[in-house]
Amino acid sequence: MTSEIPVLNVVATQLRQGHRTIPFPDAPPTLPERFRGRPVPNPAQCPPECQACTEVCPTEAITRVNGRIRIDLGRCLFCPECERSCPGKAIRFTREYRLATRTREDLVMTGEALRLARALDEKARRLWGRSLKLRQVSAGGCNACEADVNVLNTVVFDLSRFGIQFVASPRHADGLLVTGPVTENMRVALLKTYEAVPPPKLVIAMGACAISGGPHVDHADQHNGVGTFLPVDLFIPGCPPHPITILDGLLRLLGRLDESTDPA
Ligand code: SF4
Repeated sequence: MTSEIPVLNVVATQLRQGHRTIPFPDAPPTLPERFRGRPVPNPAQCPPECQACTEVCPTEAITRVNGRIRIDLGRCLFCPECERSCPGKAIRFTREYRLATRTREDLVMTGEALRLARALDEKARRLWGRSLKLRQVSAGGCNACEADVNVLNTVVFDLSRFGIQFVASPRHADGLLVTGPVTENMRVALLKTYEAVPPPKLVIAMGACAISGGPHVDHADQHNGVGTFLPVDLFIPGCPPHPITILDGLLRLLGRLDESTDPA
């Protein structure tokens, strides 16, 4: 009799709590009120000769060339000092969470458009589309990106329902998800871990640090991101990226999203 009570408590709790896993990607995600997504420049409102945004940007992510605003999402910290400093309100942070790209160049926005990540080719999708094992390497990260990767394994995001799992050994992995700017202390460990992954293999650069060095860019004790050493297949910008942005990037890479709903 006494052993039945805890079981009944578990059932009662489950009934009370209901289904906790979010319906994304079948339904749009619910984002927190303070969420900052893709910045959108409006050059028409940009005061001539004004350099307020470029002067305030901590990573030189934003530049003005011939009157056009250019934002490098690979460097952007989403802080958002440029938006605050602009007297013409020419930069606006939207709630657009879709940010991942396949190439470094695609992260550089000169207008509103962003070329989102395309899916892997058919052969790679046959291999990894329903089962992708990743080894996470924190190559000098501050633990913000790492924390958001951990969150993906909670019941809310339930990453394993897509067949994506993080594994302990690189020998059991299909690729690496790298965070951090690649500090000199982590350089050899990263390269050895990459070597230990059996081919064919993927590399994912997650967060401003792993893409460009982020706030540490050009510092002598780091290497401005994983692309300095390894071929990168997916770039997920942010500081840190929201878990939905990470999940969107991974599903995009595996061809598991309905791209017809993408912004033009
Ligand atoms: S939000 Fe990005 S582009 Fe704007 S100031 Fe911060 S780092 Fe620079």
